[in-house]
Amino acid sequence: MNVLVINCGSSSLKYQVINSDTEAVLAKGLCERIGIDGRLTYKPAGGAKEEREVDMPTHKQAIQLVLDALVNPKTGALKSLSEIGAVGHRVVHGGEKFASSTILNEEVLKVVEECNDLAPLHNPANLIGIRACQELMPNTPMVGVFDTAFHQTMPEKAYMYGIPYEYYDKYKVRKYGFHGTSHSFVSQKVAELLGKPYDSLKTIVCHLGNGASVCAVDKGKSVDTSMGLTPLEGLIMGTRSGDVDPSVLEFIAKKDNIDITGVLNILNKKSGLLGMSDGLGSDFRDIREAAGNGNEKAKVAMDAFAYRVAKYVGAYAAAMNGVDVIAFTAGIGEHASALRTQICEYFGYLGVTIDETENWKEEDYMTISTPDSKVKVMVIATNEELAICRETVALVK
Ligand code: ADP
Repeated sequence: MNVLVINCGSSSLKYQVINSDTEAVLAKGLCERIGIDGRLTYKPAGGAKEEREVDMPTHKQAIQLVLDALVNPKTGALKSLSEIGAVGHRVVHGGEKFASSTILNEEVLKVVEECNDLAPLHNPANLIGIRACQELMPNTPMVGVFDTAFHQTMPEKAYMYGIPYEYYDKYKVRKYGFHGTSHSFVSQKVAELLGKPYDSLKTIVCHLGNGASVCAVDKGKSVDTSMGLTPLEGLIMGTRSGDVDPSVLEFIAKKDNIDITGVLNILNKKSGLLGMSDGLGSDFRDIREAAGNGNEKAKVAMDAFAYRVAKYVGAYAAAMNGVDVIAFTAGIGEHASALRTQICEYFGYLGVTIDETENWKEEDYMTISTPDSKVKVMVIATNEELAICRETVALVK
């Protein structure tokens, strides 16, 4: 079956068509600047990448353009849209309602809508993408794959905040965690590569991209993760602060005479590597280059980034009373060899030793610890689209 995988944001939309039997990507691309002007990228397998400016006033029009590109007689990866057997949608927040992926029908969509409050930046955009696809492909089954679902196995002691119970009772204020599709994919891949049963391993996954989170996976279940009610908690990220003393909000609000939304905007969009480097950039490569050229703020930002990851790994090794595998993934985790070394230097007490020849290779799946390292350290290229495709097929078959 061919599955169209859609990851719809407020002004952008990433898509892939995957053949679920061979797991080959038949075509992929991106719509950007939806509702502003519009830019479509389309790349069929084995063909040239096309990029063009094209009007995209709404998500429905963006998706229509994607479908047109997919069946274009010259460059299309498909002969007709009937070759798409199902659509898998990434949905950021499933609240406590969704502990696994689910077929999307009206009843389910209502429940997803109820989660909008919890992820006002992401969920409404995800829903717009779903609705647009439903209109354009009314007879094709749609599946929702939630970033939060994998973490629904966390015990209460991990997900409850130390605040009055009534806020959980009334508003479901708790830790949810995100990047679940990636943490699940990577931890399963680790078990598969090691030839060990998934439910026999204690794995800590470090998903380090623009957004970043760490997850403790004990016997195949997420037992703790660094992101919280929203994706702001935890690690230092590209533009997000991660953990801060909540009093910082009131302090800055009073000093700068701004409201809480203004401060949260600073913590979400102007902090992290971008903020710590005094505006140099949110992209790790820019920070690394500046640090290499002697920029002190960039160096501190990088050091703090690594230190925060190391602290979470230490915490999760304690939470699981041990760790068998530490896995790095996503843009920074997969490619920043020197940063991996820097992080792993904190794990001497765990008996971690890194093979620096292996660590500097660029492969999708690598073990970078030495054979006698007490904990295996691996690099696993995440593939959230493939994970969404697999979940989708499992539900519609
Ligand atoms: P997201 O999906 O959250 O947007 P990615 O997983 O694509 O993020 O990761 C983006 C981050 O990965 C950026 O900070 C980028 O600098 C970093 N990155 C990408 N390639 C490399 C590389 N070769 N070396 C170091 N960092 C890299």
